[in-house]
Amino acid sequence: MPDEAATVFCEICKAPMVQEHQDYVIETEEGELLVEDVPIWVCEQCGYSFVEEDVIEAIEDMIEHLDTVATDEEE
Ligand SMILES: [Zn+2]
Repeated sequence: MPDEAATVFCEICKAPMVQEHQDYVIETEEGELLVEDVPIWVCEQCGYSFVEEDVIEAIEDMIEHLDTVATDEEE
């Protein structure tokens, strides 16, 4: 169960990480795709960053439906 309020700690230096929204390049079968405003966990101490699997899955799901979703859709 994902808990959005949980604090995430850096797996490199164990410092608490902050979530930022940045552009993120995801690799797809059709090449790289730039996704804007992706929630990314960033360690301010060592610079390590990662994107949660749930987020990647959501992006991949979104890409799959790009054909049908032509406009911005907010939920
Ligand atoms: Zn770190």
